[in-house]
This record gives sequence, C-alpha cells and structure tokens, in this order.
Amino acid sequence: MSEQESEIRKDYFLDRYVVFAPKRLKKPKKIYQKPETVVAECVFCPPYVNDPSKQIQIKDYGKKNNTWEVKVIGNLYPALSLNNMKAYGEQEVIIETPEHGKEIHELPVEHMVKVFDVYADRYETMMAKDGICYTIVFKNEGGRAGASIPHSHSQLISLPMIPPKIAKEAAAVDKYIDRHGSCPYCDIVKSERKGPRAIFEDDNFFVLSPYASESPYGVWFIPKRHIRSISDLKPNEKLSLANFLKKILFKLDEIDASYNYFIQNSLDLESHHMIIKLAPRPNIWAGLELGTGIIINPVPPEEATKFYQN
Ligand SMILES: [Zn+2]
Ligand SMILES: [Zn+2]
Repeated sequence: MSEQESEIRKDYFLDRYVVFAPKRLKKPKKIYQKPETVVAECVFCPPYVNDPSKQIQIKDYGKKNNTWEVKVIGNLYPALSLNNMKAYGEQEVIIETPEHGKEIHELPVEHMVKVFDVYADRYETMMAKDGICYTIVFKNEGGRAGASIPHSHSQLISLPMIPPKIAKEAAAVDKYIDRHGSCPYCDIVKSERKGPRAIFEDDNFFVLSPYASESPYGVWFIPKRHIRSISDLKPNEKLSLANFLKKILFKLDEIDASYNYFIQNSLDLESHHMIIKLAPRPNIWAGLELGTGIIINPVPPEEATKFYQN
C-alpha cells in the first residue's frame, strides 16, 4: 500500500471490510489522547477492597508482602447475575496487582503469568456453571476503552447464550475448514510469518498486525499450537505471551493509547483455535462506522508493524 492511497481490505475469512486511509493521518502519533483520571479513594486498593462489607469477596491468589498477588471480586452493580433469570449470567473483576498505579505491563513477566493463570482458573470456574454458554475475559485500559477505575484490572463476563458475533465467526471458521481442510488461524500463522505484518514470534506465539485490522495499531496474539482456550496454555506459552504483551503495551504507552484486549476462547469445538485480540481505541467512530459497520482505519497494519518493532 502506498503512503497516499486508500485501500479497501476484506478480512482473512470473515465478511468484514476495513478502509485503510493513510492520508487521513496527518500526525501518526497523535491519534490517541489518554484522558486524565482522578479518584479520591480507590475501591480496588487494600484495605478497602478486602472488606467484605464493601466488596464481594470471591478469591485471593498468591501471597507476597502479607497480601494477595491477584484478587477476584464480584461486581457490585452487575448487569448480569445468576439470581436474575431475565438477565442471567455472571461478572467478575480480576485485580491484577495490589499496587495502585502499576499497569499490567509494568509488572514482572512472572506476575503477568500469574494473572493469566487466574484468567484460566476463573474461565473454567464460570464455564462449569449451569446455563452458561460463553465466557469472555477482557481488559479495558484507559478512559476511552471503558475503564472507570485506574487500578489495573480485567473482567470476566459469562453469558447464557452464544454471542452472535462469536457464532458468526465460528460459522466462518467452519466454512473455511470445509473449503481448505485446515484451520484459518494456523494458516494465518503460516502465510503471515515472513510477511510485512509479522511483529514478533517465538516457538510458542505469533504476533501480527492483521491484514484488515479494524483498529489503528490492532494486534493479534496467536498461539502456535492449535488450542481451544486459555486453559490449554502451558506455562512456557504464558511466559511468551507475557513477554510479547509487555512489549506491545509499552509501545502503546508512547502514543497514550487506550486499549481493549480480549481472549477469544473457542466454542467447545476441537477444530477452533483460541486467539487474543488487542484493539487500541480510536478517538471516535463516525457515521460510516456506526451506520454500515465498515471501519475507516488511518494506520495500515504494515506501518503498525514497523512501529511495534522499533
Ligand atoms: Zn487502587
Ligand atoms: Zn489452528
């Protein structure tokens, strides 16, 4: 793609289009601006967060300096609850560190691995509950990405139905497998490894800026083994993921980007491949995006790849 010309790209296997419009980008490093967040008293800091009259205690993980390393609490104002048949489901908050103001990538990689261990444990716990069909693990960082509390945390939401977006992608995966006899994500690793969108790789993970990325600087983390969920990740794979996520998030710090990442665990099908998707949040989606679902992205993935590698 030339520096001036726009290009419409279709996703690898989904019916999804993105318009790359590089010339809209006058100042490449200035598309993000992190809003200032100020709180008087942090509800995720000890001792407040440990008080059962103030927060719903679920489970503490690890022990260091007389406190937990990672803590799971309930959501005080859940949109979904196991007690409400009209909005059945469950929500949990994972507090990644007792240290206020430290973001996930500023933690040692070993601590990041502990956070992934907790993701896996909570995922399995939720999926074992009656009537739960899908559980998503995600993180919102920065005001624009929907984070309301500036103490590093992730969330899990389990749902009583397969979300349509997930069902649609699963159907597209099945169609791809029928046609090619192979998994689309395994094929993406093969076809992109030597290309201009490959950011990092080791024996365990391949990290790329996807061909039709919906977000500027969007990144996918694909485990090289064809595995179904975060529960299948081995310790050395979690270590690779932590190292790569750390590098990517430090680069996003440079441009003050708010971001979301989420773990897309497969539906219970052997043929499906789990993936972690990271989406920095653009300033605003305008009429075209809201009205048609077609996204305009000012940052070609090849340019994003160079940014992350520098
Ligand atoms: Zn705090
Ligand atoms: Zn695969």
